[in-house]
Amino acid sequence: MRFTSFRLEEVKKLLGQSPVYSLDFNLDGRGRPTDGVCAVTEKELVIINGQKVNFRCSLDEIGEYTTTQLVGSGAFGIIRNGEPIQLCIFTQDLLNSFAELGKLLDYHRETGIFPEPGEDDNNIRICPKCGSIIPEGTNICFHCEKKGKYLWRVVRLSLKYRWPLLASLFATIAIQLLWILYPYLQGVIIDDYITPKNQDFSQLLVTLGIFLLIPLVIMFMEILNDRCTAKVSMAVGHDLREQLFRKIQEQSMKAITKRPTGEQIKRISNDTEKVQQFVAMYGKEAIVRILATLVILAVMLATNWKLALLVLIPVPLAILATQIIFKYIHRKYRLVWSRFSQSESTLHDILSGIQVVKAYGSEKREIAHYADYSKRFAQSMYRADIFWFLAFPIIGFVATLGEYFYLYFGGQQVLIGALTLGSLVRFAGYVGMIYGPLRWIIQLPRYIAESAVSAGKIYEIIDEKEDVSDRSNPVDLKIKGQVEFQRVNFGYKVYKPVLKDISFTVEPGEMIGIVGPSGVGKSTLINLIMRLYDVSSGCITIDGVDIRDISQNSLRSQIGVVLQETYLFEGTVLENILYAKPDASMEEVIQAAKIANAHNFICKMPNAYNEYIGNKGYKLSGGEKQRIAIARAILRDPRILILDEATASLDTETEKLIQEALARLTQNRTTFAIAHRLSTLRNADRLIVLDKGRIAEMGTHEELLRNRSVYYNLVMAQRQTTKLSKE
Ligand code: ADP
Repeated sequence: MRFTSFRLEEVKKLLGQSPVYSLDFNLDGRGRPTDGVCAVTEKELVIINGQKVNFRCSLDEIGEYTTTQLVGSGAFGIIRNGEPIQLCIFTQDLLNSFAELGKLLDYHRETGIFPEPGEDDNNIRICPKCGSIIPEGTNICFHCEKKGKYLWRVVRLSLKYRWPLLASLFATIAIQLLWILYPYLQGVIIDDYITPKNQDFSQLLVTLGIFLLIPLVIMFMEILNDRCTAKVSMAVGHDLREQLFRKIQEQSMKAITKRPTGEQIKRISNDTEKVQQFVAMYGKEAIVRILATLVILAVMLATNWKLALLVLIPVPLAILATQIIFKYIHRKYRLVWSRFSQSESTLHDILSGIQVVKAYGSEKREIAHYADYSKRFAQSMYRADIFWFLAFPIIGFVATLGEYFYLYFGGQQVLIGALTLGSLVRFAGYVGMIYGPLRWIIQLPRYIAESAVSAGKIYEIIDEKEDVSDRSNPVDLKIKGQVEFQRVNFGYKVYKPVLKDISFTVEPGEMIGIVGPSGVGKSTLINLIMRLYDVSSGCITIDGVDIRDISQNSLRSQIGVVLQETYLFEGTVLENILYAKPDASMEEVIQAAKIANAHNFICKMPNAYNEYIGNKGYKLSGGEKQRIAIARAILRDPRILILDEATASLDTETEKLIQEALARLTQNRTTFAIAHRLSTLRNADRLIVLDKGRIAEMGTHEELLRNRSVYYNLVMAQRQTTKLSKE
């Protein structure tokens, strides 16, 4: 999905202003391919086809926006003065985007505000400034953003470890200086001892001694350098990983679910690794190597400036050539990055859902699916890398040219006696030192850019503002269990309300069933009680205190949850039950398991409570997993309990055991239960019936049946289905 046209620059020129939303469409009135844009400015809706404005209409005149599915395509239109007008046609893949655009514009019509489009996983966003695609999972356009600022923060973080950092800096500078001294001594040995056939062996020995000492000192310096650098880079990597992980843990569900899990794992592992490399190598080495190159240049110029200039002629050429190539491939690498990210996310998605893949026997399709992404990534990488493969031989060739120059002119000067042989050898050493690191220095912008992008991605999460956070003096409330909703409105996106004007009061210890058609907002209502999201307006109170004033820790530690899809961590049964209360005693755990009707089946396992239940609890049946979850909740002894479809899809025997366990669990606790099968909610004190985001009815099972309204219809519909499935 996207709300910025790929042709943004042209659209801006045509309209003379920046559109608020602009969305490309791709079919003309006869269903033939075209390049069109549907643009919305502050005042108007404009349809551009090719290079022309085909239609414009003031937003005030529009009564409704319509998105219609046609055969194999879709259409977007408006209703003006009661008359429908079809504005543009597009292929199926754009249908969701236009439907979303319609919702954004509906919201604008009602409120006068242009809302920000949602950040869905597949929401392709384009930078409004430069028009390039913003990579998935991030809000940063790495094309426009100043990259240096993120690297500077990494540098500042490294300064926390200033002593090892200084030691490694000192060692690197010493190593470079000693290397520079090396050719100098070579020259001295030739000029002072070998050419004049000087018989003074003792002096030669001393010089040779120094000559030998240099690599020895370099060796020690390298050991020092490597140790200190490793220390700093590992520490910085660790700091960043920890900061990132903490931030992700503290974020609201809204912020966490915005990015695919694979993307978050990548940031914690790959991106911190890249930044770590920057600290270990590129950052410090870059400064030192550039300085060393300048020193060598100065020494060469001082020794024989004419020869030095001759030798150096090809260097700017090499730099220029590679700079041009670099500029070109920069664009190519952006594509590589975005494709890599897509292929990784696909892989993660397939592996997370491997059970479904196997169950549907769709392995072949998934292999083809992943192979497609992987191939696209490989192709883009190959196309980008080709240019590097071009750059290296060019530098190699230029380096040979340099060598040729200095041998030719230098040799000539030695022959006429203008230059000593020692100086020529010294020059040879320096030429090697200039051309050697050239490759490295030319690659440097690429490495630095990569590190900056990674640092940007890390700090983007670390800097993210928390949308659900504690107030400055949050209350630690000892919850009794009265819950009240006061005119609560909520939507995951502002322009798509899910719950509307919800008000009710629940007394401590009451059991409330929440019913309504699928997608009506039952889970959403429960998410709001747990404060996984904050309400858009209105308020929710517990024992009369607004939940936004209660510390999140205090709130959640007193709410227990049993979900249909119980998530068990890798580990033993005991560890999984203890998750609710790590300091509980074994007696407490067994007691909780007994109440949850789980003790018997746990004892039947070979290692009982120490049985290892593997990845996501695959060894256990659905009913067993649920009873472990119930034991977990019992151990926690929450004041408010949430049961989300807790007894769906189980056989009668297991269901009986679970119902029993739940009945014990819900005693004396305020309970909110969602169940598909309405019969399971019969013993609820009251039922809240949701319809179209609002409370349609409230009352006991019998009262609601007597009402013969929404609940009655739901029950009748369900009876009908059950009867049909039994026939
Ligand atoms: P129910 O539990 O009644 O089946 P939900 O509360 O899960 O319904 O969903 C209500 C609406 O909110 C649905 O339209 C669903 O698509 C939407 N929704 C649910 N979760 C999210 C989310 N994390 N982000 C955006 N929309 C969501």
